[in-house]
Amino acid sequence: MNLPEPIQNLVNALSRLPGIGPKTASRLAFFLLNAPEDLTRGLAEALLEIKTSIVYCQRCFNITSSGRDLCEICGNENRDSQVICVVEEPLDVVALERTNEYHGCYHVLHGVLSPIEGVGPEDLKIQELLERVQEGEIKEIILATNPSMEGDATAMYLQHRLMSSIVKVTRLARGLPVGGDLEYADPSTLMRALAGRQEMS
Ligand SMILES: [Zn+2]
Repeated sequence: MNLPEPIQNLVNALSRLPGIGPKTASRLAFFLLNAPEDLTRGLAEALLEIKTSIVYCQRCFNITSSGRDLCEICGNENRDSQVICVVEEPLDVVALERTNEYHGCYHVLHGVLSPIEGVGPEDLKIQELLERVQEGEIKEIILATNPSMEGDATAMYLQHRLMSSIVKVTRLARGLPVGGDLEYADPSTLMRALAGRQEMS
């Protein structure tokens, strides 16, 4: 049976989301078909809003509300702006913030180096990081890319690029599940990885 076009369109759109296969997409589509209108309207509005109301922080490239240059963290005077934790995605910032133990700032790369997928240094916010370091007020860079092959390679690359600067470069301690994402690590594991960070040499 062919589904009516509007439903099929919704199923197609939902199945493009990460972790959602065709079966789940159909189930969600039919759920939404029968859901109260305030839910579907709220969802539709929220979806449109994230595209118009969220921008990237001009210093660290974390997400922030439009109309602001700096995110809440960069704009907070109580945060230590001399320590920068380098992560792959804004979700990693959320994960590290959940530990309540990190009081420095961040730099979001928006991806990792991946020759297979054609992602090179110029596709990530690497130049922007180097510029922050060149401005000279940074004491430590914590490389907190995921413990995956690409995450490790990106950390090595950054360490190499930062070698000529006097800044201390550390890497999160092992103990995070290998190949796992920071965003899925529980706060106490992340806290230990952060506390046990080691200088790269
Ligand atoms: Zn920021």
